[in-house]
Amino acid sequence: MSDAGIDRRQLLTAAAMATAAIATSKTAEASIPAPRLPYAEGALDPVISARTVGLHFGKHHQGYVDKVNELVASHKELQGKNLEQLVKATAQSADKTALFNAAAQAWNHDFYWASLRPKGGGKPTGAIATKIEQDLGGYDAMKKLLQEASVFQFGSGWAWLVVRDGKLAVTKTSNAETPLTNPSEKPLLTIDVWEHAYYLDYQNKRADYAKAVIDKLLNWDFANQNLASNVQG
Ligand code: MN
Repeated sequence: MSDAGIDRRQLLTAAAMATAAIATSKTAEASIPAPRLPYAEGALDPVISARTVGLHFGKHHQGYVDKVNELVASHKELQGKNLEQLVKATAQSADKTALFNAAAQAWNHDFYWASLRPKGGGKPTGAIATKIEQDLGGYDAMKKLLQEASVFQFGSGWAWLVVRDGKLAVTKTSNAETPLTNPSEKPLLTIDVWEHAYYLDYQNKRADYAKAVIDKLLNWDFANQNLASNVQG
């Protein structure tokens, strides 16, 4: 009998350890991986300096990811979701505003770094070029719209090139808001117009930053990839 008692205790201990291991692995699954910058911090210089990218990526972007992981830890029902799923799951929840803001900012920043590349900008080629002609009246008209969206966004936010109901459109969002939560919009490119994106390099001259990004950094290959996945999806 005493042997059976020991066995039962051992079993209970083993079960408790197994439960703890599962809990640990679930927490690990839920965490959003560290963000990745697709190029060196100095790669966008002189349009955006290494110092700006270092702070923007290393402190601001990383800070949003850290916040997501901190907040998800107390929401069991959200554990295991990826960043895109977290943004969509929290967008309409008044009690999860802090988590939505952090997750959407983390997602928007991933999208922003991918929207830029060294020696980018200029006239696009491929399907996006055709669509800009058809839907927005050409490259110069598109540039003007994107520039205006960047400058006229009041306060912090984002300027976007999106597909809206099958047509290209330029739009802007405030703070952490993102087209990802709009079922009729699919983002193709974005420009971060929060002050932290440009203040060290351009001070208050957001228009100069937007113009330089549009002319010299936009990654049209990324826009074409997003456009192609939109057509397929
Ligand atoms: Mn930013």
